[in-house]
Amino acid sequence: MTLSITLLGTGSPIPSPDRAGPATLISAGQGESAEHYMVDAGRGVLMRLAAAGLGASDLTALLITHLHSDHITDLNDVITTRWIMTFVKTPLTVVGPIGTQSVVNHLLASLEPDIRYRTAHHQDLDHRPAVTVIEVNEGVVELPNGQGGVVSIACGQTDHKPVEPSLAYRFDFDRASVVVAGDTLPCSGLDELCTGADALVHTVIRKDIIANLPMQRMQDTLNYHSSPEEAAQTAAKANLSTLVLTHYVPPIPMGGTEDEWRALAAKHFGGTIELGDDLLKVYVTSL
Ligand SMILES: [Zn+2]
Ligand SMILES: [Zn+2]
Repeated sequence: MTLSITLLGTGSPIPSPDRAGPATLISAGQGESAEHYMVDAGRGVLMRLAAAGLGASDLTALLITHLHSDHITDLNDVITTRWIMTFVKTPLTVVGPIGTQSVVNHLLASLEPDIRYRTAHHQDLDHRPAVTVIEVNEGVVELPNGQGGVVSIACGQTDHKPVEPSLAYRFDFDRASVVVAGDTLPCSGLDELCTGADALVHTVIRKDIIANLPMQRMQDTLNYHSSPEEAAQTAAKANLSTLVLTHYVPPIPMGGTEDEWRALAAKHFGGTIELGDDLLKVYVTSL
C-alpha cells in the first residue's frame, strides 16, 4: 500500500525549456484500485502525466488550488483529452475554489467549435465533454458517487491575496497523509490542514533573489508567495517528516542550485527536503 507524490510540473508562469507548469500527482494504492489525483493543471501537464505512464482517463479527479493562469493553463487540454480518449462517457471531476464552475463554463464555450467538429465526425462520440465541478471552501471533499473512496480528501483556505479564495488539499491513505499547497503565505488554514500529516508539497519562490531584481512586477510577487525558508517553517511547525518544494522562481538552475534551495529550507526544518526536476517521485510513509 503506497501513497506517492509525483511532481508533474515544477515550473511557474516563467516559461522554462524543461519545466512544465505547476501540477502535482498524488497516487494511492496499486493496480486496478489505484487512485490518481492531479493537483493543478499547468503548462504541458499531460505530457508529464504520459511520462509517468498515465493519461487523462486515469485521473480520479483534478483538484485546483486557485485560478491563477499558470495553475490552470492546460485545464482545457485535460477536459478535451479525457473526453476524446475515453470510449464510454467518463465525466471528469474538477474540484476547486468558488469560481471554478465559471472558468470551466467559459473553457467549454471556447471549445465549442472543436466539440462540434468531433461529434459530427466521430459516430461513436455521441456526447459532449462531461465535467462535474465541485466548488469547495474548507473541510471534507466529497467526490460524486462511485469515484474515489480509497483516499480521504480535505481542503483548507490558504493566503494568496488578492487571489481569493485559494486552497490547499490533504490526502489521507492507509495512515499516511500528504498536504498539497498551492501558492500561499504561511497561514493558519495551511497549519491546520498540516496538523498530523506526514508530508507537505509547497510552492516556493526565492525571495532573497527576487527582492534584488530591479523589476516591480517581480517585486509584486513577494507578498503572496512563500520562500523555501517560510515553507520550511510551516513544515517544522506541524512536525512533518517530509517537505517537497516545487514551482521554482527563478527556475533552477538559474535561480541557484538544488543544494542552495535545500540549504535555505534546512535552516528551519530538520526533516527530509525533496526538490528536483519534473517527474521527481516521493513516497510518503507514516512516522
Ligand atoms: Zn498563484
Ligand atoms: Zn503559481
